[in-house]
Amino acid sequence: MVNSFLDDIHRPSLPYKFKFKFSGCPNDCMNSIQRADMAVIGTWRDNIRTDEALARRWFAKHGMNELVNDVVARCPTKAIQLQEVRELRAGGTVSAVAVSDSHGLAIENRDCVRCMHCINVMTGALAPGEDKGATILVGGKRTLKIGDLMGTVVVPFMKLASDEDRARLVELGQQIIDFFAENALEHERTGEMIERIGLVNFLDALGIEVDPNMVAAPRTNPYVRMDGWDEEVAKIAARKAAAA
Ligand code: SF4
Repeated sequence: MVNSFLDDIHRPSLPYKFKFKFSGCPNDCMNSIQRADMAVIGTWRDNIRTDEALARRWFAKHGMNELVNDVVARCPTKAIQLQEVRELRAGGTVSAVAVSDSHGLAIENRDCVRCMHCINVMTGALAPGEDKGATILVGGKRTLKIGDLMGTVVVPFMKLASDEDRARLVELGQQIIDFFAENALEHERTGEMIERIGLVNFLDALGIEVDPNMVAAPRTNPYVRMDGWDEEVAKIAARKAAAA
């Protein structure tokens, strides 16, 4: 990305500056969601991995109060349950790990929003899945013409394993920069341009179909309206079938 866009990054060749930021995981220590016109944040789409030996070691050191109050209770989407070991079952979309001879954790990965909290607290015992890629967001910035904006998800998951995958990322960056160059006002950041022209027009210009996995800000609802729920589900199923 740097090699492809270095000459374009700063005015006067563009209406105003354009920032890329890259974070390896959803902790986003780079603050890319707050500051970057185009943020690339590493994520995963399969199940959280578990390591029983490390989970038992963590539990022996920290105990039940911390497990319940700092791991289970702090999952923002209630994806984690404390379970008795005899009921613990991993499989399908559920990750499960025993922390002692009597108790364990079960994680419903369909409800996980990749906030990283449980993984940060029980590092190693819990770990991101292996099917990794990135979420692409556009429009983060600090105050300028309008107040601070967080980046908005435009691609919920992009695989970035091969040269072809990475070429697609560069292509998307080029599309966004070209659109910004042609449509932004003087001294306007990408997020402000999107606010002015409307997100739907921006996505339309990039040829990106809206999807319920796109969120306007972390841990909030999708910005996609789902009035015709059944038809939207049928469209998503058709897209998935075509991709498969
Ligand atoms: S990473 Fe997923 S399972 Fe873990 S606390 Fe966050 S939302 Fe819950």
